[in-house]
Amino acid sequence: MTRRGVAILGSTGSIGTTALRVLSRQTERFEVTALTAHTNAELLAEQVRQFRPAYVGLVNGNEQAQHGWHCGTECLVDAATRDDTEIVLNAVVGAAGLDATLAALRAGKRVALANKETLVLAGPLAERACAEGGGEIVPVDSEHSAILQCIASRPSTDVRRVILTASGGPFRGWSEDQLEDATVEDALRHPTWSMGRKITIDSATLANKALEVIEAHFLFGLPYDRIDVVVHPQSIVHSFVEFIDGSVVAQMSVPSMELPVLYALTHPERLADDGIPPFDPVAVSPLTFEPVDAGRFPALRLGIAAGKRGGAAPAVYNAANEQAVALFLAGRMRFGDIPRAIESALDSLGDLPGDSRDELLEADAATRRHVMELI
Ligand code: NAD
Ligand code: MG
Repeated sequence: MTRRGVAILGSTGSIGTTALRVLSRQTERFEVTALTAHTNAELLAEQVRQFRPAYVGLVNGNEQAQHGWHCGTECLVDAATRDDTEIVLNAVVGAAGLDATLAALRAGKRVALANKETLVLAGPLAERACAEGGGEIVPVDSEHSAILQCIASRPSTDVRRVILTASGGPFRGWSEDQLEDATVEDALRHPTWSMGRKITIDSATLANKALEVIEAHFLFGLPYDRIDVVVHPQSIVHSFVEFIDGSVVAQMSVPSMELPVLYALTHPERLADDGIPPFDPVAVSPLTFEPVDAGRFPALRLGIAAGKRGGAAPAVYNAANEQAVALFLAGRMRFGDIPRAIESALDSLGDLPGDSRDELLEADAATRRHVMELI
């Protein structure tokens, strides 16, 4: 059997290393063709020794010092468009993943997409790239993987609505006053998932859930009024799909990104993998659900409104959030100022033109400048 080539962009991150763990158990089916990272040359070198990819990219590296590795931002697109590669796992964080996603889709690849910021920033462009090049997006995000599995190829006209689950993050029970000055350490203490720093902060503000609502809108072709969110602190049910006949289907598994990563590679097929943690309904019970407190987490409401507004607004939302989170992590912005910075950017820049890649990236850059001027 020929093995399917997989390129991993962002191989040194939380999703990237999870994916390599999965692939190390599936060497008969898949071969790693390319690995890229931003900075961590030591870890990347270790991965190269183990997986022997034909292409290695280190964005922040030096071609000479790195012995034939490819360096600079172009390496993402190069790694994403190779002939030996069928599947591109985009596990880069933030808007930096955009061009590689679009190029891979235009080149007819399957993009296993963890980099949700791409779809938020430029959902219509990604749709166009799929139509032009025959590529497809298969989500890695656990909620969207769940929805894909629940929908099981039924048309979107069969779906009444989808309900995304949210763990509620580390601040589920916190008051508005407490949230205002929550520390970086508090915000990085996620109750159910161990992830990269940016998405962990997004989970604390619930900006992550707003990004996921927009992601679901584009992935499943559903209007925003058919996408709901419910808090589910145990992170066992990864989302629900309610069909037009009233039947509700959920996908469950213990919280581990290994399953959604594996499924993004194999969809619509399934592969046995004894590394995935087993499920015991008694051990995971009770499962509870509660409404989102939108008042305490304004980043969720702002993001959904930006998605409905369309144009450059989702790109502005995403860029403001990325910049504000970077400032918060650097100790230069208070936790409570993250949604305020997003709101200010949307008020000033949300109507910028956003039809092309260049317009969207201009809106992204203008937004980052705007947020820097706020501090
Ligand atoms: P991470 O910070 O752990 O890893 C990011 C990876 O991207 C690293 O390999 C880093 O070297 C690389 N990278 C960072 N900046 C880059 C740049 N400018 N150019 C090129 N490469 C760059 O992040 P993560 O938690 O693995 O998340 C990756 C993506 O997956 C994010 O979009 C996140 O929202 C999404 N996601 C993550 C999880 C999770 O469990 N970690 C779950 C769902 C979705
Ligand atoms: Mg998710």
